[in-house]
Amino acid sequence: MPQLAPPLPYSSPASPWLQRLFKPFRRTGQRWRGGIKLADHKALSNQTPIQQIAVKGLRIAVPLGDGRRQVEPCVVAGQQVLKGELIGRGEPMSLWAHASTSGRVAAIERAYPADRDQPVPVVIIEADGRDRWIERQPVNTPQNAAELAQFSLQMGLIGLGGAGFPTGIKIAGSQQSDLLLINGAECEPFVTCDDRLMRERADTIIAAADYLSRVLEIAQVRIGVEPNKPEALAALNAAVAATGSRVQICRLPHRYPAGGQPMLVKSLSGRTLSPGMLPAEVGVMVLNVATLHALGRAVFHGEPLVSRVVTLTGDVDKPGNVEVPIGMPVPALLAAAQPRDQQRGVQVGGPMMGRELSHPNAVISKTSSCLIVRCDDLFPPRPPAGDCIRCNRCVDVCPMALQPLKLYAASQRADRITLQQEQLAACIECGACSHVCPSNLPLRDSFRDAKRELLAGARQ
Ligand code: SF4
Ligand code: SF4
Repeated sequence: MPQLAPPLPYSSPASPWLQRLFKPFRRTGQRWRGGIKLADHKALSNQTPIQQIAVKGLRIAVPLGDGRRQVEPCVVAGQQVLKGELIGRGEPMSLWAHASTSGRVAAIERAYPADRDQPVPVVIIEADGRDRWIERQPVNTPQNAAELAQFSLQMGLIGLGGAGFPTGIKIAGSQQSDLLLINGAECEPFVTCDDRLMRERADTIIAAADYLSRVLEIAQVRIGVEPNKPEALAALNAAVAATGSRVQICRLPHRYPAGGQPMLVKSLSGRTLSPGMLPAEVGVMVLNVATLHALGRAVFHGEPLVSRVVTLTGDVDKPGNVEVPIGMPVPALLAAAQPRDQQRGVQVGGPMMGRELSHPNAVISKTSSCLIVRCDDLFPPRPPAGDCIRCNRCVDVCPMALQPLKLYAASQRADRITLQQEQLAACIECGACSHVCPSNLPLRDSFRDAKRELLAGARQ
């Protein structure tokens, strides 16, 4: 069973004299409607530093591609690889894959990422436990957007906040942007991996933000953080003060889903993302704070994206945040957290937008931010659904100004025309409506299913 090793030194926290230099926080004045207050349960896992994990003898299954487009393996069974070594590559705009630890390539087969329904091709590496890196060259820093876009794809960078969009493609589409927004909201309950990253690695995050704004020629950079992360806000402000950075640290409203893309853009810029619009269409580029950190490691240290921080929480004896290689088997990771009982299953991601673990032997993907071992105390069983009593609570909380009760009725009738008229596509699947519904109707789940069916119908 793998043991949690003591934390490795990474960057020093803010010293007291630096903390006195904090600039006052910028308050965000732009409001968005709806949303809900949730019990955050973050203290369960955010009290200890990020830990490393021993992987000797484990079979690490590194996905080839980003789930949308595959790349071809460039290693064969029996070959020795080092951490960071290229193991999969494809056409120019594809996302390259790298060994996430050192060891022997055992096979090329398929495995389930923790947050995907379908298995994907993976390279299985039998970890030798030494975690030896390739020689990390001093990076010939990309100097313009086109070079950086290509570099990001070759370093395997994707959005670590959940959507998993390739960072290089986002950078390639950033020409019209005049504002760079960094999402440090982490508004989902239980999840604390970004919080710990901001507390412990703020210097890399701020340096990467400055670098990115320079290369993309974007003058304004704002990082949005919810006020329930005072240590993260302090660490970011300290890093700004220490370097003279122009990055603005902003407090977001403490209201779920403050980190949803339309809400973040509204809060930090006042611009409105209408349904179906991309941030680039309103002159904004949005990156998650962990993605920005990964970009910093790639540019400043020559490290491809081969690991991520995962929150382990819920009904476990050893909650916390652990930095794990991409492809880490979930059962081995859970064992390190010492679950008390797994009868109620494991949630991947947060309780609002996450999902059930896809497969008992699934592996950590680049978008697996959190594993929550469920129990009745933290996740009370949902009572049976009743009838809609037309109380309008779902309408009041919907941050996209939709009519969830109408959408639900239409989804039950499979009424495609009404679903489109009521803008089902604008639903960000935040689950706020389901959370407040006194009749316990599975609103969000029905919208997710209806979207899939509409999409499948459109493809036929
Ligand atoms: S919250 Fe539930 S019961 Fe109330 S209107 Fe919406 S769907 Fe109906
Ligand atoms: S899940 Fe969709 S319909 Fe429900 S509150 Fe969120 S955005 Fe609105």
